[in-house]
Amino acid sequence: MTEAASLLDATHDPNLRSWVASANAPGADFPIQNLPLGRFRRRAAEGETPQAPRAGVAIGDQVLDLKLASEQCPWLGDIYPLLAPLAAGDIAGFMRMGRPAWKALRVALSQALAEGSEQGPFLEMCLVPRAEVQMALPCRIGDYTDFFTGIHHARAVGALFRPDQPLMPNYQHVPIAYHGRASSIGIGGAVRRPHGQTRSSDGPPRFGPSQRLDYELELALWVGADNPLGTPVDMAHAEDRLFGIGLLNDWSARDIQAWEYQPLGPFLAKSFATSVSPWIVSLDALAPFRRPCTRPEGDPEPLPHLDSAWNRAAGAFDIRLEVWLQTAAMRAARLNPVRLSHSNMLDAYWTPAQMVAHHTSNGCNLQVGDLLGTGTLSGPGPGQGGSLLELSAGGKAPLTLPDGQTRSFLEDGDTVILHAYCAAPGAVRIGLGQLAGTVMPA
Ligand code: CA
Repeated sequence: MTEAASLLDATHDPNLRSWVASANAPGADFPIQNLPLGRFRRRAAEGETPQAPRAGVAIGDQVLDLKLASEQCPWLGDIYPLLAPLAAGDIAGFMRMGRPAWKALRVALSQALAEGSEQGPFLEMCLVPRAEVQMALPCRIGDYTDFFTGIHHARAVGALFRPDQPLMPNYQHVPIAYHGRASSIGIGGAVRRPHGQTRSSDGPPRFGPSQRLDYELELALWVGADNPLGTPVDMAHAEDRLFGIGLLNDWSARDIQAWEYQPLGPFLAKSFATSVSPWIVSLDALAPFRRPCTRPEGDPEPLPHLDSAWNRAAGAFDIRLEVWLQTAAMRAARLNPVRLSHSNMLDAYWTPAQMVAHHTSNGCNLQVGDLLGTGTLSGPGPGQGGSLLELSAGGKAPLTLPDGQTRSFLEDGDTVILHAYCAAPGAVRIGLGQLAGTVMPA
């Protein structure tokens, strides 16, 4: 048995089916093997006060309302305390209970939602169609750090600015990151084109709407445990600090970034908006999709505090990523979104465990609800860039869309849709859902 296989249990059984019929559809993002948590509210009718956000589990095209589920369904005695914070809509409170609690609830939910469960008739009354809910951020985000682990992105963007040295000498030794802005993180929807200061070729810098607005295809890692200030988290415990994974779009104004980023890094070019997908997929759900963390022949080994046998054997994740675009003109002509590129979390040079171990290695305290971005995940091939900056070669080679429009950067009315899913032999495919955002005029 491989190391990763030791994490598999009855919740990953590919033959397991749910009494929620839509969860059994091939290719569904949320089969019973997934069970991601998120916060939602029922859409308010006109004049109605919006409901406070509730915690729920996505199953097929439904949401299991955990407030109703805790009140109206019989559970084994030790499950009620786990449901208590969730019944109050407090996912962060549930995170604080720790990884054994996360796993215990996953097992209980899997049994309750499985075909033939005696809890089925009770829980049937606790479902809400996903089409009838609005999602909210899963919790308050205290701090947000964006890494730079996509090595193909680092090389491609580096080559645009430093053809003689695309990859900086520190890259293969230290997981590069910067501190981002937490207050402007949302779950997509409308994103306004930012104003900012940009360089002008024939005079003083100007201030106005960004002309080079871009997206970045990333994954979000949700921190689910505190480490006290001054207490590094070693590689053996790093994964226990992560509650789960979602999608992240790091909206970026390239013209503002180019003028402001030296010497201290990105600032207003990034802080106007960041989007995350609302459903958090647990590391337990991702167990069948773990892969060895390998480095190309000849690359330096990580320093000991960023290395472990477990990480080498199973620290990486096979998560397939896609970017889709639908312009305003395509929407008007009823044309479906077009796929711009695809990549994989295996394109990351550093694993989630290494990001946590590095982040805390100086004693920095991570807290429940903190968010870590992986950095743009681009594939190695042409057309696999995780941003328009790469796909259009810095704007020099605009993309031609199927209806004849071209894009170097995003235009008003463009909708960017990120999607991710995992597939492997012997496992049921699971998805991270979608993250869609539409550019509004400045
Ligand atoms: Ca980024």
